[in-house]
Amino acid sequence: MTAVKCKKCGGTKQKGVCLICPMLAAATPPAAPAPAGWPKRSRALGAFARQVPELNARNKRLGINVSYESAGSPDSDAVDCIIPDRNERKKLLKAEGAHDRDGGYGD
Ligand SMILES: [Zn+2]
Repeated sequence: MTAVKCKKCGGTKQKGVCLICPMLAAATPPAAPAPAGWPKRSRALGAFARQVPELNARNKRLGINVSYESAGSPDSDAVDCIIPDRNERKKLLKAEGAHDRDGGYGD
């Protein structure tokens, strides 16, 4: 009997069935999905890189848990705001003085 190699994992198949693949599948269960749509990246609630230290200080003072990340634009120092969940977004909108229209703003 000729050993047949599994195309997926390179392991040896016996009687056409791979012995390794089921073990690999069992060892790596799919990660639990994050809540839909979060974290959000908001350009509207973003800023410029030079403002980030000031914003971080304000956010810390107000207990707002968001972060800023480069918007990836080569000719500007714009940063996007990374908002982990609804609650942080609500606090941030309040701090920014923006009216929360329940999900319509900055998403
Ligand atoms: Zn396999």
